[in-house]
Amino acid sequence: MIPFDFEYYRPQSITNAADIFQTLEESGKNPVFYAGGTEIISMARMSSITTGAVIDVKEIPELKAMEFNGDDLVIGAGVTLTQIHEANLFPLLAQACARVADHTIQNKITLGGNLCGTIIYREAVLPLLLTNAYLVIASVKNARRVPINEVFSKRMQLNRGELLVQVHIPRNYVSCPYVHVKRTKEDKIHYPLLTVCALLTDNQVRAAFSGLVNFPFRSVEMEEALNDINLTLEQRVEQALNKLPAAVPDNLEGSAGYRTFILKHLLTSIVNELETGNVTNS
Ligand SMILES: Cc1cc2nc3c(=O)[nH]c(=O)nc-3n(C[C@H](O)[C@H](O)[C@H](O)COP(=O)(O)OP(=O)(O)OC[C@H]3O[C@@H](n4cnc5c(N)ncnc54)[C@H](O)[C@@H]3O)c2cc1C
Repeated sequence: MIPFDFEYYRPQSITNAADIFQTLEESGKNPVFYAGGTEIISMARMSSITTGAVIDVKEIPELKAMEFNGDDLVIGAGVTLTQIHEANLFPLLAQACARVADHTIQNKITLGGNLCGTIIYREAVLPLLLTNAYLVIASVKNARRVPINEVFSKRMQLNRGELLVQVHIPRNYVSCPYVHVKRTKEDKIHYPLLTVCALLTDNQVRAAFSGLVNFPFRSVEMEEALNDINLTLEQRVEQALNKLPAAVPDNLEGSAGYRTFILKHLLTSIVNELETGNVTNS
């Protein structure tokens, strides 16, 4: 049961959503944008959040888009993980979405919710970090198109009242050779002990990680080490491990040593697979 009353709004346009947000904010209702609702409902039931109003953004046409437009693949923030997986327009993203939660919840979770939510894993962001994607973000003041690396740093850095509208992925990345690997503590369906998304572009390996530290990340320093052809593969991986952006946590899900052991072996096989063209995904 949700232990508080709240108002429900379902705007049909971005402008309408932004205006409703501002009006509710000014009247002290502490509104939240509502997409799949899986996180909002779970947290409201546990009294981890309270709100006087939710603004359901799923019916806004721009948030439902999923199509190639010019040089970009455009995916609306309200598109569900199931829809992304089934359309398979960007196979690496499709595979990452198919391994978040289970089938029932994938039908509800949206791309925007996964990126903007508070649960730290945000696995759907990994392929986007590798592709120089752009995000379209709207507020009552304006709409802006920003490179993902400027607005996603550990988490989405949105200002209050800003709505993630769309993700634009340059078309040339969607067919790059890629590897997606998710390792969990026990069951296949679980939060990641370690998820790695990697792709090969211009003979360079790019890689992004979730579960390894307390935020998802892509590290240019790690990639420089992995692509240093003056070193052996073993040395490249060792150098990359020395450039992790934060300490690997020790917790009940796995010790730091175990996570690092898995990472070392995965990186070795991923780089080898991408460079030899012998890719197997798991
Ligand atoms: C059972 C379960 C298992 C899960 N397993 C995984 C997993 O394995 N890997 C993983 O990465 N994640 C996992 N998650 C996390 C899940 O992806 C997030 O909770 C995600 O937020 C849910 O998306 P949603 O569309 O339901 O978001 P909602 O619950 O609707 O919203 C979540 C947050 O995002 C904000 N938001 C939503 N859309 C927008 C938008 N367009 N613009 C601005 N803000 C927005 C909302 O205001 C809210 O703060 C799991 C969640 C559950 C409940």
